[in-house]
Amino acid sequence: MALIFHGQSTCSICGGILQKTDQIVAFAAFIADKGDPLWRYSDSAMHETCVEEWVFRDEFLARYESAREWFRRVQRQYPTLEALGAALHDGHIEYPEK
Ligand SMILES: [Zn+2]
Repeated sequence: MALIFHGQSTCSICGGILQKTDQIVAFAAFIADKGDPLWRYSDSAMHETCVEEWVFRDEFLARYESAREWFRRVQRQYPTLEALGAALHDGHIEYPEK
């Protein structure tokens, strides 16, 4: 999950400082491909108001939810991160991309 330092961290959409009094949403890293146009928003925090008005809002949230569902599903079969990492590395499962 993105680390947030109020008064220092910036919103990945508008670039403004995230203040303690702001409504903030944060996302865990879920897009691995650095060439993906939405990659830089994965593992970041944003003002809630920026997300609501964001042109990529629906696509981003749908992909985030899809990644979470994938993780919940494979977690039953590979309950530790080590086991999951090995399964991905060995090609037993694939991470969903787009
Ligand atoms: Zn913002």
